[in-house]
Amino acid sequence: MAEILIVEDEFSINELIRRNLSLTGHRCTQALDGLSAAALLENGSFDLVVLDIMLPGLDGYQVYEKALGTPTIFLTAKSELSDKLKGLSMGADDYLTKPFQMLELAARVEAVLRRTKKIETEFTLGGMRCNFDSRQVFLDEEIIECTPKEYELLEVLIRNRNIALSREKLLDMVWGYDFDGGTRTVDVHIQRLRHKLHLEDYIKTVYKLGYRLEEV
Ligand code: CA
Repeated sequence: MAEILIVEDEFSINELIRRNLSLTGHRCTQALDGLSAAALLENGSFDLVVLDIMLPGLDGYQVYEKALGTPTIFLTAKSELSDKLKGLSMGADDYLTKPFQMLELAARVEAVLRRTKKIETEFTLGGMRCNFDSRQVFLDEEIIECTPKEYELLEVLIRNRNIALSREKLLDMVWGYDFDGGTRTVDVHIQRLRHKLHLEDYIKTVYKLGYRLEEV
């Protein structure tokens, strides 16, 4: 999980980015103008900034100066793609031209975080080892076959470990908003993960809510 600052003055786009990056397990803070973005950057610490260029208050370049080395992905309309940005791209980690696909942004975010080493590529618990790059799971160094949903559920639990997650939230994060299979699906997959990966002692049931992966 990373702390991400989203700076975008169009609320609907800002909100769409927040929702998508939250679903992949990141904690997002939103700013709708350059001045509040600069204030947030001065007072907080972020692992990544998603930064629009054309902003009220300060523009994206001015905000970038306040980011002081925080990994930054610029969002820009194609017409704003000036020489200045090309120069900045030496320092900025990446940029995307609007309109862009959410999947593309999410992929760039993960790539930058990985490059700046804010994201773990592997996680070990008990005899279980999970590699996020290859999406492979091992138990005592033997590969364990997981279905795509089992794997995604495991990764969400790991990236949000020690946090209680409701069945509804897990359903949203792994199966998506339009899935209508019900929360029982979550229970079934949790049982399988516990059994397959010997995680009975680590995946705790949170009474009347959902589950929590506990790293002891
Ligand atoms: Ca804008």
